[in-house]
Amino acid sequence: MAIDRSTIWPYEDGEPGEFYYQRYGHPAGAEAERALGALDGGHALVFPSGAGATTALVLAFLNPGDTVALAEGAYFGTGVTLAQFERWGLRYVEYDQTGAPPGDVQLVWTEAPSNPFLTMPDLDAAAAHPAPLVVDATVATPVHLRPLEHGADFVLHSATKYLGGHDDVLLGAVVCKRADEAERLREFQTRSGIVAAPDACWLLQRGLKTLEVRVRRQTESARELARRLEQHAKVAVVRYPGFGGLLSFDVDGATAARAVETSLELITNATSLGGVTSVLEARARWEGDRVPPGLLRLSVGLEPVDALWADLEQALGRL
Ligand SMILES: *Cc1c(COP(=O)(O)O)cnc(C)c1O
Repeated sequence: MAIDRSTIWPYEDGEPGEFYYQRYGHPAGAEAERALGALDGGHALVFPSGAGATTALVLAFLNPGDTVALAEGAYFGTGVTLAQFERWGLRYVEYDQTGAPPGDVQLVWTEAPSNPFLTMPDLDAAAAHPAPLVVDATVATPVHLRPLEHGADFVLHSATKYLGGHDDVLLGAVVCKRADEAERLREFQTRSGIVAAPDACWLLQRGLKTLEVRVRRQTESARELARRLEQHAKVAVVRYPGFGGLLSFDVDGATAARAVETSLELITNATSLGGVTSVLEARARWEGDRVPPGLLRLSVGLEPVDALWADLEQALGRL
């Protein structure tokens, strides 16, 4: 696949064709959106990051004075992004997504499963709420969950994670259930300029081709590691929803967490998730006392599961 980096395309017989100016669309973006739309069963729009997708969704559909019900314990950055809009009169309240969302809100924002607590939302209760429903399915991916089939109006992805899959592209996406809402979001996106570049979209297309085999293998390994961690004497809690490549577990406090982080040899001590390389970090460094000081989040990559376990075992063995 060649990458067309043009910002302009000649008119045809004096009229703009499908592509004419890059901010309004380009071939790599259109192809990535077609592929992702098919995976999620809706109309996909790609954004330059997951946070950019969040910004566009909120600004396109909400008004000053509106309130978002945000899943408690969801991706730390989503609350941080929403807080940026408080100056413009947008509020958010946190709620326990395993139950029903609060009454007077204009948007319900869930995460399936939440990062790093790995809880699943009650999608029936959230879909029964009159407000539109967003499901951030970054961690589940369309391999394990297609939220539009469970009453969601919008699926949000940080495509930086599993969809890109190789820790080399920053991207986000929103998949809309309804064509008219996709059009409204497209209008906002192209007017505000929150658009993804051709090279990034090309890397997303590449990632999507192997998404299913990567995620199935990561799920298999994560399941096995969760099972072994549960039996380890130094591990207090293991959080794993039964699918996907992400899990978290607790060791006894911040010092123990740091010791595990710095003893690992195969698993990289780094942030983010969803790549082919396993990464682990203590989340308290970013989230403070919102998470236990000994909480370690592990994103399982494609290394052999026994090698990953040997690394965890030797690091935990130093505690
Ligand atoms: C990383 C992440 C985001 C933000 O995406 P970026 O691509 O980093 O902007 C949103 N939601 C979840 C669940 C994430 O893990």
